[in-house]
Amino acid sequence: MAKKPIVYYGSMIHGQAARFASLGSKFDEMIKKLDFNTISKGDKVALKMHLGFQEDFQTVPVYFVRKIVKAVKDVGGYPFVTDNPTAIYNAVDRGYTSETCGCPLIPIAGLKDRYVYQSNIEYGGVGEIGFAGVLHDCDVLIEVSHAKGHGVSGYGGAIKNIAIGGLAAGSRWHKMHGIENHIPWWDGVKCMPEHAEELVKVCPSNALRYDAKKHKMAMVWNNCRNSNCMKCMEADKGVGCIEIKAENFQTFSKIMAFTAAKVLEGFKPEKRFFFNFLLDITPQCNCLGMIQPQIVPDIGVTASKDIVAIEEATLDLIAGATFLPEMIPLYVGIVNLDKNLHPFQRIWGGFKNPYDQVMFAEELGLGSRKYRLIEILPPSETVGMEAPKIKYEDQPTFY
Ligand code: SF4
Repeated sequence: MAKKPIVYYGSMIHGQAARFASLGSKFDEMIKKLDFNTISKGDKVALKMHLGFQEDFQTVPVYFVRKIVKAVKDVGGYPFVTDNPTAIYNAVDRGYTSETCGCPLIPIAGLKDRYVYQSNIEYGGVGEIGFAGVLHDCDVLIEVSHAKGHGVSGYGGAIKNIAIGGLAAGSRWHKMHGIENHIPWWDGVKCMPEHAEELVKVCPSNALRYDAKKHKMAMVWNNCRNSNCMKCMEADKGVGCIEIKAENFQTFSKIMAFTAAKVLEGFKPEKRFFFNFLLDITPQCNCLGMIQPQIVPDIGVTASKDIVAIEEATLDLIAGATFLPEMIPLYVGIVNLDKNLHPFQRIWGGFKNPYDQVMFAEELGLGSRKYRLIEILPPSETVGMEAPKIKYEDQPTFY
């Protein structure tokens, strides 16, 4: 029987008020366990991050980035941080610079987002996709991902960090987003204009948009609360012109699995490393460029060499955390408190299943959903350990 991939986990909770028991020390240990020795001297090492936009600093603290960068340099690799050109250009606003990260910051598809490798994706009529050239040229991929919610797929972490973040803007925005319409969901022949207007009116999330001149209904998939709502389906009884299905949302998760697979093709398994940061777990992704509330408390960090295993473990940890309904933004509207639903489904609807992308990624052979979780320095152990004598301000100082 094949061995289960290991996912290392460092919890935010510590057993003692001592550095050796806290997340910083746990993270050092996790880097050692992942073992960067498969990085060869001179390898170009991409730290693929999402550096946020505008005021969104809720990504991965630069403190951890520096630690990864140092560990890569220690084995002779040439690390750099990469993301889309906009996020790189204004990264300084959120504290990411060459000085703070300890390495250069390089736009993932060139200065104008046009340095791409075209490749065909045979799904949903998507066709040619522009994969980021800088990422493609690297020897090693270290994903440094922020685990958070997403309005269509329910979740974004390591898979989304390359599936969307590994593409140039044209493909990222105009080809990947909108794939949901690939499966028909509205029948214009059955739907009279008055009925179409009525459906728009009953939607509490402003998800449906009707263009009377063209007699066309459009859906903002991000806004639809699907199985938590279904008000349009109720209003449509006896007419049958609208159908909200899980399959429509799954198309986005599926295409992400396809593009993630293409990006990973460029890296040998021993040259892939994944870190997920389960901190500031917000309802939506970092593309919004704003500060958001956390829907569960901070959990910690996961690390693995298997992208599927780390995503499954990350989602399981979030599922087991305390859901904070009082933190859910009012615009979400309908919140389903059913404990059988993942926290991301409670806010975005049951059809936006965060595990779908992980399931599709496993089907494509990117890894295994069956994993072994190894907790590093668990609080139950560190609570009983003898702590080194505490020294305050023990670093070089002006005083
Ligand atoms: S399910 Fe609810 S949110 Fe989605 S389109 Fe229908 S009415 Fe709007």
